[in-house]
Amino acid sequence: MRRAVYPGSFDPVTLGHLDIIRRSSQMVDELIVGVLNNSSKNPLFSVAERVKMLEEVTCGLSNVTVCSFDGLLVDFARQRGAQIVIRGLRAITDFEYELQMSQTNRIMCPELDTIFLTTDLRYAYLSSSTVREVGRYGGDLSAFVPERILGQVYQKFHEK
Ligand code: ADP
Repeated sequence: MRRAVYPGSFDPVTLGHLDIIRRSSQMVDELIVGVLNNSSKNPLFSVAERVKMLEEVTCGLSNVTVCSFDGLLVDFARQRGAQIVIRGLRAITDFEYELQMSQTNRIMCPELDTIFLTTDLRYAYLSSSTVREVGRYGGDLSAFVPERILGQVYQKFHEK
């Protein structure tokens, strides 16, 4: 059984994340999307909202599940019986941080390997912080987040 975790903040999930989820779910038997419950980051969406949006956009992918976690990624992966961590790489600026993190994780948990998927060029520029920035000023978000959750994302900015 090949099981992978795809961790991140997903605040909110973007089309770039969804592309990584789709592609990596085809490589493994089970993909667990792990939403990091990181209170120090002061997220726009609550963990429950982020999990719900991810569940909605992945409901057609039968081997994908979504849950939240806090603490160390290696502990989360161990608890879930995952051998693989999936991460997306956009630009060279992602690389240094990602390399350092994957090497640290391997020191702590040598049986855990990180697989990097390069972003689809359509989403190479895209990040959740871009979405939050454009959304804050009332911009059109339809090119950035999955259509299914567009209403919820607009609603959040409307409430703010
Ligand atoms: P973090 O808060 O750790 O940066 P994110 O939630 O932003 O995590 O992203 C989770 C993962 O998805 C990271 O590996 C990140 O590089 C990747 N990712 C984010 N946006 C994109 C994108 N547009 N294309 C490909 N991968 C992406």
